[in-house]
Amino acid sequence: MKKIAVLTSGGDSPGMNAAIRAVVRKGIYHGLEVYGVYNGYHGLVNGNITKLELGSVGDIIQRGGTILRSARLPEFAQVEVQKKALEQLNKFGIEGLIVIGGDGSYRGANALTKLGFPCIGVPGTIDNDIVGTEITIGFDTALNTAINAIDKIRDTASSHERTFIVEVMGRDAGDIALYSGLAGGAETILIPEEDESIDDIMERLNRGKLRGKKHSIIVVAEGVMSGVELAEKLREKIDSDVRVSVLGHIQRGGTPTASDRVLASRLGARAVELLLEGKAGRAVGIVENKIVDNAFSDIIDQPHYIDRGIIQLSKELSI
Ligand code: ADP
Repeated sequence: MKKIAVLTSGGDSPGMNAAIRAVVRKGIYHGLEVYGVYNGYHGLVNGNITKLELGSVGDIIQRGGTILRSARLPEFAQVEVQKKALEQLNKFGIEGLIVIGGDGSYRGANALTKLGFPCIGVPGTIDNDIVGTEITIGFDTALNTAINAIDKIRDTASSHERTFIVEVMGRDAGDIALYSGLAGGAETILIPEEDESIDDIMERLNRGKLRGKKHSIIVVAEGVMSGVELAEKLREKIDSDVRVSVLGHIQRGGTPTASDRVLASRLGARAVELLLEGKAGRAVGIVENKIVDNAFSDIIDQPHYIDRGIIQLSKELSI
């Protein structure tokens, strides 16, 4: 293998740049030419492809977002569109592709692999919703952004004796809510993986009140319901002031944490090694601090795993 390419796809996440840098530098270290595909699968189909040098990825390890940009191309599910991508890859003489993204991006990479083109996936999403890895690139940074916000909200909540609802991202996964709620000391954490009724929440709030708590913080994952909707439901039942803060896209941006940069560097480099070893149709991940790889077919469409022990712990610590 002489030429490989890298693209970022789906929602961007902090640390994607560090992963791109790792792919480029590791590839060049092993004597490969490395190409960057701009705008995800959209750029792949349209031939928006440029050769990257060592210097092309200088000064990006600390930057959020992705220098290769990202785009969504739903039509990439069609075989004719995938074949157009293969034509472009062949035109440039590229023999392997590394796709940094989430589950949807893996589907595209799996489709290309099935058409005979070797692809390797690298998990880049703040949602931490990819099977085969305990942590995804961007999750730690998003968590830190969320707990910084929760800490600040706690200051104002305690000054005004308010109940605050903080809505965090995560799509259908509750990881950002669970871990930021635990790390931010939230009284109640609502995640899609766990059913909790309004009455359960009320019981918690009342318990807190009885022991003299003046304020309360509820972290709700967007996959459960919106913060505004939850506030409406709670206002029907309690007399204290309920305020809502939707963290939104600030969770996607920002300078990646050390943990995300290290993870991205390790995973990006391993993806290159897999291509050099002749592997295809696999995604890298981290399990118990070891870099692993799994077949796309074992990852895609598998139920998202959430640590039940952490759910239980968060409940025990917020009594
Ligand atoms: P993520 O990768 O973060 O899950 P998306 O679900 O938006 O983000 O997927 C990113 C891109 O991957 C889509 O815009 C599309 O180009 C491609 N993709 C998604 N699903 C498929 C599929 N079933 N087959 C081929 N490509 C897909």
